[in-house]
Amino acid sequence: MEKKFDVLIIGGGVAGMTAGIYAKRRGRNVAIIEKFTLGGQVLSLNRIENFPSQSEIDGLTLGQMFAKQVKHLGIGVILDDIEKIDFTGKEKILFGKKQTYRAESVIIATGLASVPLGKNEDDFLGRGVSFCAVCDANFYKGKDVCVASKGGSGIKGALDLAGVCSKVTVLDSQDMSKFASNFKNPKIEVVSNVEIEKVEGSDTVEGVLAKLNGKEKLFKTSALFVELGKRPKTDIFKRVLDLDDRGFIKTDANMQTSQENVFAVGDVRSGFLKQIVTACGDGAIAGQLA
Ligand SMILES: Cc1cc2nc3c(=O)[nH]c(=O)nc-3n(C[C@H](O)[C@H](O)[C@H](O)COP(=O)(O)OP(=O)(O)OC[C@H]3O[C@@H](n4cnc5c(N)ncnc54)[C@H](O)[C@@H]3O)c2cc1C
Repeated sequence: MEKKFDVLIIGGGVAGMTAGIYAKRRGRNVAIIEKFTLGGQVLSLNRIENFPSQSEIDGLTLGQMFAKQVKHLGIGVILDDIEKIDFTGKEKILFGKKQTYRAESVIIATGLASVPLGKNEDDFLGRGVSFCAVCDANFYKGKDVCVASKGGSGIKGALDLAGVCSKVTVLDSQDMSKFASNFKNPKIEVVSNVEIEKVEGSDTVEGVLAKLNGKEKLFKTSALFVELGKRPKTDIFKRVLDLDDRGFIKTDANMQTSQENVFAVGDVRSGFLKQIVTACGDGAIAGQLA
């Protein structure tokens, strides 16, 4: 059965939740469609010091505060993953994994996604492969772990992991020899020019098979943290909306995209400064106009 709304928001990060709050308070029949859980990237931040009114707060607490307000206002939250869209008609259609949805206006708040390794890492998701060092470090307390990195992208994650793991090996695909000596942390080893070929293991991760100096080498490990950076989640909008050269959705100052009644807010939108307050500002404008 199809569900109909005035406004549908794709993505329940801080941008999407703020858009929902503003749309709901205008009396719109609004729902947020989120594929995981309300909060988005904020949930993985251990310390935020620039969110006005909070001198210091952890991301999980802040994300839960947003979600509490969404629930308090009675905004619909639908657990689904939008895989396809049709923005050609007056009524916008969203095709989720579970159901199809229709709305007068759509607000895209899909944020950023981790860049994948592109090997067999999905076979070990939740069983040793992780895309979030801050979220999952504690599961590998006292263990040896590896980090997949490109040009130093994994260093921040490695520092987070070194707090609890016994050894962290950063497998960087580029030459990091000039920078490696800067890491005084005795738990972190940075290996340059590593080409990861495969995650090895039976039930859980046991090693990472890679090419180093032309030879195959097995790095034994309990986990592989993929820390290759982030990219906008705009695959399903590629041939439908105007994107900038890095794949972010272009909007005007009112968050309006190249399609009428389709808005984009937060990190997925082309623009300067990707932060919580700017994502909320975007969400407020779109929620007021959608
Ligand atoms: C390491 C790090 C540190 C940071 N530190 C700070 C800081 O100190 N202060 C600060 O202000 N900002 C900080 N930021 C930035 C801040 O976290 C982001 O700007 C903000 O969280 C973006 O929110 P968003 O709602 O736009 O996107 P996201 O948080 O990415 O939310 C997008 C949501 O959409 C969902 N989604 C995606 N695709 C679909 C789909 N097809 N169907 C259904 N749901 C979907 C996702 O599951 C996700 O929940 C930091 C970011 C990082 C990575």
